[in-house]
Amino acid sequence: MLGAPGAGKGTQAKMIADKYSIPHISTGDIFRANIKNGTELGMEAKKYMDEGKLVPDELTVRILLDRVAKDDCKNGYVLDGFPRTIPQAEVLDSELTKLGDKIDYAINVDVPDENIVNRMSGRRACVTCGATYHIVHIPPKNPGICDKCGSELILRDDDAPETVLKRLGVYHEQTQPLIDFYENKKVLKTVDGTVDSADVFKQITDILG
Ligand code: ADP
Ligand code: AMP
Repeated sequence: MLGAPGAGKGTQAKMIADKYSIPHISTGDIFRANIKNGTELGMEAKKYMDEGKLVPDELTVRILLDRVAKDDCKNGYVLDGFPRTIPQAEVLDSELTKLGDKIDYAINVDVPDENIVNRMSGRRACVTCGATYHIVHIPPKNPGICDKCGSELILRDDDAPETVLKRLGVYHEQTQPLIDFYENKKVLKTVDGTVDSADVFKQITDILG
């Protein structure tokens, strides 16, 4: 899944994972779980995340390749928030080629910058299961409580408006070039991410079949 921070990659990736019974792999979720558990990896990643910067490629790639090597990935998986730089995409490509595997689709969820700050300030995330909501657009049944597991919902530290603006800058500089990268590989599919999340999902399932 490609797209700006807050474009709805996680929301759609979870729906894809449910429909096609494949794992949803989010490097952001992996980092947040490590921060919560106080691991060394978590402490290292947090330094970058809190500033709206990307975690260094070397660390991120290692985590991701370990994850996709697991048994549950044998029948495919949906990557959310990875790759985020050209070097990450190149390593992924060469490692998959070695395994006789490939990326089937790069789905670009297109949302203009002016919608992003509103999306992020309204985002609420479950501290336990990682489910995400929006206080206006995709509200939980009971305010502040996760529908799926009943835990508390929080505003992510990096969703503060000033950090969101930094993350958008990083996106345009380092991640947006991946759109051309996957276009050249003939796997890019762009969907309109400004419509209702069910309508975004309909565009995606029309592509995936
Ligand atoms: P990303 O994973 O790309 O950072 P999320 O999936 O977490 O983005 O979505 C960002 C915020 O926008 C969340 O609060 C989510 O509930 C909300 N959201 C997701 N899709 C839509 C949509 N189509 N319309 C309105 N809000 C949405
Ligand atoms: P996300 O949950 O996808 O919004 O990611 C939250 C933060 O985790 C990002 O702002 C980065 O600091 C870090 N992160 C997640 N995925 C990557 C990645 N592929 N490369 C570098 N940093 C990442």
